[in-house]
Amino acid sequence: MNCPKCNSSSHKKNGIVGGRQRYKCSACGYNYTVELKSTAFSASVKRQALQLYLEELGFRSIGRFLGVSHVSVQKWIKKFGQGLEDLKSENEISIVEMDEMHTYIGNKKILLDLDCC
Ligand SMILES: [Zn+2]
Repeated sequence: MNCPKCNSSSHKKNGIVGGRQRYKCSACGYNYTVELKSTAFSASVKRQALQLYLEELGFRSIGRFLGVSHVSVQKWIKKFGQGLEDLKSENEISIVEMDEMHTYIGNKKILLDLDCC
């Protein structure tokens, strides 16, 4: 994050305003904050979306399950296709999470089968 006024990358932390980190430019003394993307979903939600996708759930089902729009899910899956390297680097952290998801989906399928019979 460079200073919006003089474009210097040299800054100091200068408190937090409205939940956002404020910086003070060391070059010109201008105070600026870093924008937080409030609409951004966490990496773990996106990983869950991908996992559900790999379990052959549709975009709409994934969206309902995770409480996001199916359009977002579609975008994430596309992005995952382009940036699988990023996902690999996080695999160690998400192993437990994915196992739980497998269990959930397994139970769901069993229940659905019982309904059929
Ligand atoms: Zn500056």
